[in-house]
Amino acid sequence: MRFVKIARQYLRRFLFCDEFCSFLARNRDAVNKENLIMLRKLSVLGAGLMGVMTLFAFLFPYLYRMQTLYPPYFIAYALICAIAFTKAGKRRAYQMATACAIVLVTAAFGMHLGIFYTRNGNANLYMVFLIIMPMLFITTPLFTRLFAFAVCAVFSVLTLLFKDVAHYEIDITNCWVCYVISMVGTHMINTVRMENIDARRRLYGEALIDGLTQLNNRRAFTAYMETLHPKLLTDAARVTVYMIDIDIFKIFNDTYGHVEGDRCLVELGDIFRSLSSRYGLFIARYGGEEFIAVSADAALDAEAVGQAIVDEVFDKRMSFATSPYGRVTVSVGCADSRARGGNNDFDLINNADVALYRAKERGRNRFCMFGV
Ligand code: GH3
Ligand code: MG
Ligand code: MG
Repeated sequence: MRFVKIARQYLRRFLFCDEFCSFLARNRDAVNKENLIMLRKLSVLGAGLMGVMTLFAFLFPYLYRMQTLYPPYFIAYALICAIAFTKAGKRRAYQMATACAIVLVTAAFGMHLGIFYTRNGNANLYMVFLIIMPMLFITTPLFTRLFAFAVCAVFSVLTLLFKDVAHYEIDITNCWVCYVISMVGTHMINTVRMENIDARRRLYGEALIDGLTQLNNRRAFTAYMETLHPKLLTDAARVTVYMIDIDIFKIFNDTYGHVEGDRCLVELGDIFRSLSSRYGLFIARYGGEEFIAVSADAALDAEAVGQAIVDEVFDKRMSFATSPYGRVTVSVGCADSRARGGNNDFDLINNADVALYRAKERGRNRFCMFGV
């Protein structure tokens, strides 16, 4: 019973490759991008090669008999090339259809050449196509296997019908041996590509996330501010920046230790995350015990949001015995892009910093607006 269970598990894994399918679901965009690049390269290569061969077929007498073979494939590859560089980049359905088309055209060319133009020899070029083509696009293993299987079946039948026994025996045997080699090779190559894409996605994600609070980090903040540059230059837009700093946090660390300090930062991060979703803010850990929130919503009441940040932390009553307030508090400085120098992100952050220091001077646990 146990053996049957294990065998069934293996068969299921072999047939459906659940791991690979979940990888595809996780990395849909990256995979589409890689497939599109491959599609474009292949279509240029196909159209280019077929164009040159068409030219040769008209120039060199020993290739004259190919004048009926190359031109239709040249037209097919040129058409695929045109779609690959226009529509396939915009819609996934077009991309899938064009990728299938290029594989089919290549398989058809291999068969056409190997069966009808190589009657007294073996279809060697077709075998090369058969091994390489399934490795090029990343898609579900079952689809690749069935697609290649169908192509091999068509090749076997046509070979059986149109070639003599001396050649069809070898061609059909080679075809199925190449099919197995190709499927094993495709599996190996796709496993490596899968790990590569997954690692890239993870690294890219982690590069923008703060390891302690899981909020956006400084790098993500800089990238976000760059996206706001055009907005900052238009008068109608309004960007507000809130600089948030934990009050006397050095004393907190001295009182409770750094581990407890880290825990406090995580807890505050959670509060800021929920505030950011409530007010549609971009929130990041700016550094140390400083956080920064940004809003590009012109209708947002900056005073209310700044005060809400201070109040939310105050109301959490996170104990801090050596603080004059007896709990963890924050100070918030806010600057507005409509104030003087506000259309430059460095000045905007500087202004928020000036406001923050005013809040500190006035006794902490409060919100200050720059220029007010
Ligand atoms: P102020 O109210 O004026 O902001 O006083 P402060 O003590 O908060 O300011 P100061 O800049 O003197 O000290 C910041 C402290 O924050 C010092 C440092 O130990 C602590 N800190 C910065 N990053 C971390 C961190 O990742 N974990 C912990 N536990 N503490 C941190
Ligand atoms: Mg500080
Ligand atoms: Mg501080």
